Amino acid sequence: MKTYNPILSEYGTTIFTVMSALATEHGAINLGQGFPDTDGPEDIRGKAAEYSIDGPNQYPPMMGIPDLRQAVAAHNKRFYDLDVDWQTQVLVTSGATEALAACLFGLIEPGDEAVLIEPTYDSYLPILRRAGGTPKLVRVAPPDWKLPLDQLAAAFSERTKLIMLNSPMNPSSKVFGADELGFIAGLLEQHDAYAVCDEVYEHIVHDRRRHIPLMTLPGMGERCLRIGSAGKTFSMTGWKVGYTTGPADLITAAAKAHQFLTFTTPPNLQAAVAYGLGKDDEYFEALGSDMEAKRDRLAGGLAAIGFEIMPSEGTYFLTADFRAIANRTGFNGDDAEFCKLITTKAGVAAVPFSAFYQGGPNSNDNAGVNHFIRFCYCKNDALLDAAVEKLAGFFGTA
Ligand code: PMP
Ligand code: GLN
Repeated sequence: MKTYNPILSEYGTTIFTVMSALATEHGAINLGQGFPDTDGPEDIRGKAAEYSIDGPNQYPPMMGIPDLRQAVAAHNKRFYDLDVDWQTQVLVTSGATEALAACLFGLIEPGDEAVLIEPTYDSYLPILRRAGGTPKLVRVAPPDWKLPLDQLAAAFSERTKLIMLNSPMNPSSKVFGADELGFIAGLLEQHDAYAVCDEVYEHIVHDRRRHIPLMTLPGMGERCLRIGSAGKTFSMTGWKVGYTTGPADLITAAAKAHQFLTFTTPPNLQAAVAYGLGKDDEYFEALGSDMEAKRDRLAGGLAAIGFEIMPSEGTYFLTADFRAIANRTGFNGDDAEFCKLITTKAGVAAVPFSAFYQGGPNSNDNAGVNHFIRFCYCKNDALLDAAVEKLAGFFGTA
């Protein structure tokens, strides 16, 4: 029989699906895959229902319905003072996942290099490689997740087409600061490169930090594609409505891929998201502050058990080092084994950190990162407490 595409077929099923299936099989509390346990605002869901009944339900415009593109432009103005022409500078996609693929397929030519910062979100590497690009990887490492500027500069060359920049970053929960962004902007200018900016957690930033889109830095409006997700901003991950903002020529390049990937996104969901983006500032502020309180609640509980908690500056994830627990209990496996253990025996699922590195779990590339696991904390307080109780019951407290 003929073989399948070798790049994609070498990847297993995504870690999120694997851990969620294991959690379901064992009735474990799922703090693995990132999704809130309560659906987002009822008024937004009501709008989706209304628009579905009232219609139209036929193909919307390929770039997205005008109401949503206008709302995305207004959102960029309100939060970042960006002037965006809704007709030429906004593209609506089926989730940020499709936006990432459309940007990479639209920009990458075989032989191009792309700079990625590990740990990376799971779709970046496979899609980049399938598009013909060569990854140049730089790492940020716990506990401070500092960007190694020399290594980053060394990763750029005249073949660099783009950097993929995820801030707030999943899974490290790092929020890039103004200095780091300034340095990246300098490299993009120097090497005439673009940035695909995955900013799906733009409104989930903690400790009074500010999310700064790279696009807002001088000269960067020409070079950045900035991706947002209604799934994150309105806590409805199943909706899969993404929106990308950028200069008209880059948006056109991404749309060339989008028109052959999904072509359009359900019109009732687009209309409801347009309504949602118009919510008052308090909604967006509360999203971040609610998550911050949940972070502190889970971090406190896990620390009492003996996990060492890395800083979580944004997103709804936190990274925990389990070595102290391993020493205490005699566990001597890696992160994947630890996650399997806690899912099947303690009744709490998490995600092994090494899944976010090029080699994946079981690779030698990952020595130094395979004693970390990622917990998701966008859950109701009682569930977070129950998870801590189960882990404490299993491991005891420190
Ligand atoms: N990027 C990052 C960093 C994410 O965590 C996610 C989460 N799913 C996505 C992109 C994809 O977003 P969407 O569900 O809108 O496709
Ligand atoms: N973004 C989510 C996470 O990081 C998962 C998305 C997915 O399952 N593909 O957990």
